[in-house]
Amino acid sequence: MKFSTLASGLKASEIREILKLTTQPEIISFAGGLPAPEFFPIEELKKVDAEILEKEGMQAVQYGTTEGYLPLREKIAEHMKTAFGVDCSAEELMITSGSQQGLSLLSQIFLDPDDVVLVESPTYLGAINAFTLQHPRFIEVPTDEQGIIPEALEKILQEHGKAVRLMYVIPEFQNPTGITWTEERRKAFMKVVGAYDFPIIEDDPYGELRYDGEKMKALKSLDTKGQLIFLGSFSKIFMPGLRLAWMAASPEILDKAVKLKQAVDLQSSSFAQRQAYYYMKRYDINEHVRNLVQVYGKRRTLMCETMKQYFPQGVTFTYPEGGLFTWVTLPEGMDATALMPKVLAEKVAYVPGGPFYPHGGHRNHFRLNYSNMPEDRIVEGVKRLAAVLTEEMKN
Ligand code: PMP
Repeated sequence: MKFSTLASGLKASEIREILKLTTQPEIISFAGGLPAPEFFPIEELKKVDAEILEKEGMQAVQYGTTEGYLPLREKIAEHMKTAFGVDCSAEELMITSGSQQGLSLLSQIFLDPDDVVLVESPTYLGAINAFTLQHPRFIEVPTDEQGIIPEALEKILQEHGKAVRLMYVIPEFQNPTGITWTEERRKAFMKVVGAYDFPIIEDDPYGELRYDGEKMKALKSLDTKGQLIFLGSFSKIFMPGLRLAWMAASPEILDKAVKLKQAVDLQSSSFAQRQAYYYMKRYDINEHVRNLVQVYGKRRTLMCETMKQYFPQGVTFTYPEGGLFTWVTLPEGMDATALMPKVLAEKVAYVPGGPFYPHGGHRNHFRLNYSNMPEDRIVEGVKRLAAVLTEEMKN
């Protein structure tokens, strides 16, 4: 069979392959970015579903507009103000089938082959995958424990500024590192990019899951010229299987995204959009998020404390103020991908760090998720991991 160039270039995602293994129940998986299923509001959803079917059953299973169900977009506009400090109206928002679709639409709107896309180093693997289909040139912008480094970005822009077509950042509880940009860095970043016109995707599926420290406003709230495109998602604060997210952007960008979405899937699920809307109308989603914050915050602390106690000297990790991940750094020369079989043999799983860098390298890192496993398994899994690392570092 003759496939297209695009299809011929498709590679299996390293994470998906690992996740396949981790569906075995005996594995203690720190690999995926899965929310804790025991806290999905299933009972509430049953009531919401009954209400939807009662009140507007026919519309709920009928086709809808590509932009999305207006009452939901209005609710999200309110939520953007309270949760992210962003003023926007329902007209400035569209619904997408997950933020992943937002990333896919935006990469197709902005990137041609060999165009430059700027990303943090490291960055979200799913974004690298979405962008890669357009065959851009990735430039990795250095980061440290305070977020992106504005001086490094400025230097890159002096050299490549004209070729940059898109930038992608995750300022809150980054995937994979768990790092949050400081306020100073946010301001400095906005100043640097303000001198250019390329669009910037601010991807923020985790911002509401803050366990310590001061709440921060989104970069988008500092944007006066429509340069920022904000992606929010129901996946981590509600349920990922509904595949519901939103994009807030200037009318010019939304117009293109809506036209492209029409060609891709016509619209996101009419029923799922009503599930989110009726849930938000009937219950307090912020209350639900506060419960998640309690549980995940405890799991975060437990994982970090256990790592501190058991991991060998020379292994470091981030202590995230929110989100779902911590990022572990092994001594230079160690290879987290090569270590995977030994870790899996102990029935533990993580995601090796290499794939989070578009240009590869950096193999001495791995990402751990703490939201999905109950507390006793977090402790047990970290101990097993510590034993493998200790053994490995003896040699
Ligand atoms: N962006 C980031 C940074 C993510 O971590 C994820 C999922 N793990 C997504 C986007 C995609 O989320 P979804 O499509 O479920 O909204």
